[in-house]
Amino acid sequence: MAIQICVPKEVREGEQRVALVPDIVKRLANDNLQVSIQSGAATLAGYTDADYENATIVDSSSELLGQADITLTVNPATDEQIEQLKDGSVLIGYLNPHSDLERFNKLKQKNISAFSMELIPRISRAQSMDALSSQASIAGYKAVLLASNMLGKFFPMLTTAAGTIRPSKVLVIGAGVAGLQAIATARRLGAIVEGYDVRPAVKEQVESLGAKFVDIEIKAEGSGGYARELSEEEKQQQQAILAKHVAAADVVISTAAIPGRPSPRIISTEMVEGMKGGSVIVDLAAEGGGNCDLTRIDETVLHQGVKIFGPSNVPSMVGNHASELYAKNLLNFLELLIQDGAINIDLEDEIINASLITHAGAIHHSSIKEQLEGASS
Ligand code: NAD
Repeated sequence: MAIQICVPKEVREGEQRVALVPDIVKRLANDNLQVSIQSGAATLAGYTDADYENATIVDSSSELLGQADITLTVNPATDEQIEQLKDGSVLIGYLNPHSDLERFNKLKQKNISAFSMELIPRISRAQSMDALSSQASIAGYKAVLLASNMLGKFFPMLTTAAGTIRPSKVLVIGAGVAGLQAIATARRLGAIVEGYDVRPAVKEQVESLGAKFVDIEIKAEGSGGYARELSEEEKQQQQAILAKHVAAADVVISTAAIPGRPSPRIISTEMVEGMKGGSVIVDLAAEGGGNCDLTRIDETVLHQGVKIFGPSNVPSMVGNHASELYAKNLLNFLELLIQDGAINIDLEDEIINASLITHAGAIHHSSIKEQLEGASS
């Protein structure tokens, strides 16, 4: 029998993305896979049920999840959704692997093979499946637009009959995937842009986008292409130099993150107080606690004339394209998982092995297993 794939409606409040878009469903149907979509699942991403010509539309979540061999989600499946999954089926989506680990015991009990999109390794073979990157890039782009909307200034230089307007200055802190896209977007809008990161390897990338690299001479390259946490001494050195660049900026976009750790605090209240009135900080690290001391999630804080905005779930604000890219990430992952019309969980494959959290009635992921065992002993 053909493999049944399902896409439930996302239940996270305000979520505008959907796991599969119609074009990708068509590709899956051509491969003899049967796709079912929950009615209305893609409305906020810009698609009607009728746009999914190659899928079956199902109203009830329990009917949908209870029959599928593979369930695809954007946000982590909720407890209620986990309850409804077919025993022994596959779940693929964001799973938030660093928090609320008790959920994984529930998935284990239901014998679910659960793959976390966050844990797809950052190796070149997996680039086309890398949802962290596809979604971070969208967040970086949107953060600049959010900032430009909040700023009472133009980004580009403008020469008008009434005089010349100087371009705005944008500082991007954290030049990973989101930061580099923010730099590119701010440059396209005509701003003067500086970029900063603790990984010196990004200097060249920042400069190739036409921005200046702020060099603080701290080298904090960690493992897997990520940054490591800074020592107290390094943090002070960073703040002393960065304060001048923050003070000169009209807009600061901060994106700094360490996987599985709270966001590093980089912009102190004192640094904000050194900024000009009307300046804007958009803190993309808000969900991890924020890069700025004053960040409050989903609020705009006004502090001595400076606006600090810490939006959550920014990729969802660009729901149509975010869904399109995420669906492509999933398609590429499915092409690895499904071989000759059957689900093949090849534990020897680095991508499968690293992203699999629960499998065959056990916790497969070693560090999550250790944490769960530690919590229960
Ligand atoms: P991230 O979201 O974890 O962090 C964002 C940025 O913040 C990173 O560039 C990090 O160095 C920086 N940062 C952390 N602490 C900081 C601090 N105290 N001060 C300033 N900056 C700080 O990272 P990400 O954007 O998801 O990815 C980071 C890197 O991983 C990429 O730029 C790339 O080099 C690598 N990567 C590789 C692949 C691949 O090979 N398939 C895919 C994606 C990313």
